[in-house]
This record gives sequence, structure tokens and C-alpha cells, in this order.
Amino acid sequence: MILVCGAGGFIGGHLVERLLADGKEVRAVDIKPWAAWWQTYADAQSVSLCDLRDPMAFVGSVRGIDAVYNLACDMGGMGYIAAHRADCMLSVSINTNLLQRAWRWGVDRYFYSSSACVYPAYRQAQPGAEGLKEADAYPADCEDGYGWEKLFSERLCRHFAEDYGLATRVARLHNCYGPMGTWAGGREKAPAAICRKIAQAQRSGHHEIEIWGDGEQTRSFMHVDDCVEGILRIMRSSMSEPINLGSSELVSINQLVDAVEAIAGIKVRRRYVDGPEGVRGRASDNTLIRSTLGWEPSITLAEGLQGTYRWIYDQLD
Ligand code: NAD
Repeated sequence: MILVCGAGGFIGGHLVERLLADGKEVRAVDIKPWAAWWQTYADAQSVSLCDLRDPMAFVGSVRGIDAVYNLACDMGGMGYIAAHRADCMLSVSINTNLLQRAWRWGVDRYFYSSSACVYPAYRQAQPGAEGLKEADAYPADCEDGYGWEKLFSERLCRHFAEDYGLATRVARLHNCYGPMGTWAGGREKAPAAICRKIAQAQRSGHHEIEIWGDGEQTRSFMHVDDCVEGILRIMRSSMSEPINLGSSELVSINQLVDAVEAIAGIKVRRRYVDGPEGVRGRASDNTLIRSTLGWEPSITLAEGLQGTYRWIYDQLD
């Protein structure tokens, strides 16, 4: 039995779908009420309204759980994490409780979803900055709140492995996008936000959108199918240190807008406004994942945005 925590969310939902397609027995857990899950599954056991910050939270029968995937976290895009630092940091109790429980249950493997937000601001000060290598995380100067929670949780995984022999796997996810994830309401990330704004422009005929900052900040964006494939590969691997999981296709936010415009078939006027734009330049260095797994994310932004844009366009109904 595989326990997926945060299964009502974006990546957790896609992971459960994939595990079920692979014929696995899955228990899906989330704090959200059932109606708010992005995906629901007839073939998985599901537990809703389960607050994993509570060390006694009921996750169903624990007999026979052999793997735990922890994707549960109070998070969102820059707009959310910059305004909710305490809430983001409280997710530390989710990983703390789950590690202790996983060890007591005697699971074979434990996966933790860390983030590129652990990387220090001083390495991300310029657009087009070099790809971040895993070793660059130290000396630490993480994204305030959310990034520190991720770095602490990474270390907790490491010490559970060293001291208790629990086999932990940690991926540092770089921006992930795709259908069936948050696209409005304040937690959405840049690809979903830009898709929504351009879809609204296309529908309304008012061809103007707002962009936070000057649009020259650079990022890499990974399609959720690559993200799920990478998580499964990292979980199976012998890699016990944190490893980057992200696309190496670097684009500016302006180029992201160009790509969505091309899909929508419209051009929009860009109004640059003050907003929490995050670091100036972030990219994933994939040397380690290529050498250890012989694999890296490969879905291009132009390919991956097609289905994402269509899905968000339809959500506006
Ligand atoms: P998401 O917000 O869609 O999913 C997270 C889920 O965790 C939500 O459904 C939420 O209800 C659940 N959750 C939150 N608090 C909980 C609690 N106390 N108990 C039980 N469930 C709880 O986010 P996502 O994009 O699917 O991200 C999944 C993981 O990957 C997170 O750990 C996130 O930090 C990490 N990550 C994501 C990205 C990305 O680009 N999406 C980038 C880096 C890291």
C-alpha cells in the first residue's frame, strides 16, 4: 500500500492517477474536503479532512503501508508564500509527524517534496543566472518562510536516514505546471496565472494583462507529467541526497507570455506592475539527475502549455 499525502492537490493528484494506472494500491490523504480535491479516484482509498500537522491524524489502517509520498504542504506561488510565511513554515509539522510515523510503521521508502526555494538569493540575483547545483544550497539564505521550512525538512529526512535507517528520498522541485492545479484565488503560480489572464483576455476581447515586475525575471517550468515521472524514478533510485527535479529550459516571464499568446492566437498589451516577483533568475542544473538516473524532464514549455491553457480556458466557464 502506498500512502500519498497531499493527494487532493495538484502534483499529489497526478501522482495518485499514475500510481493507479501502474496497478498500485493507493491510499490518498488530504486536509481538504472531498469536493475541493483536484482529482478523485474510484480505485484508491481516500481520506479527506485529515490534518497531517496533527501527530494523531487518522490516515486509515496503517498495516501494510510500504511507501509514503509527502506532497502535503501549505503553499502557493510567490503571491502566496510572500504573504503567508508563518503558515508556510507550519508545514514543518507535517513532515515531522509523517517521518516519525513512517519509521514506526516500518515503511521501505519515504519521499519528501522539497523546493528550489531552498536555494540562496545570492545565487539568483540576475536574470539568466547559472543553473543551481544541489551543493549551492549552502551557505543557506533560503526564500524566507517557505524555503527555510523546506531546507529544515530536507535535513530532518537526512537525519532519519542516518540515525534511524529510514530510506528517505528528497526532490527539489522547480516550478511545476499543468492541468488540474490551482489557477486562480491567490495560490496559483506564474504559468497558471498567465494562462488565466490570457484566456480572460481572449474571452473578453480586452487584450491587456498585468505582469509582476518587468517580466525579465527568468525561470524554468516543468510539466507535471515529467514531475511525476521524476518523483517515481527518484523514489526507486539509490539517491539519498536531495536532487533537483526541474526543466533546464530557461525562459523569462515575457517569453512565457509569448508562448501562451501563440497558443491563444492573440497578442496582449503588457502592463508591468509592482508585485512579489521573487528572485531575478532561477534555473535547474540537471547534471546530477542526468548522471544518476540517466533521465531528466523533457516536455518543452510550448508542448506542455497546450493542454494547460485549454484546461484553464475551460475552467473559466
Ligand atoms: P498543492 O497546494 O496543489 O498541494 C498540496 C496539498 O497539500 C493540498 O491539496 C493541501 O490541501 C494539502 N495540505 C496542506 N496542508 C495539509 C495538512 N495539514 N494536512 C494534509 N494535507 C495538507 O501543491 P502542489 O503544487 O501539488 O505541491 C506539492 C508539493 O510539491 C508541496 O510540498 C510543494 O511545496 C512542492 N513543490 C511544488 C512546486 C510546484 O511548482 N507546484 C514547486 C516546488 C515544490
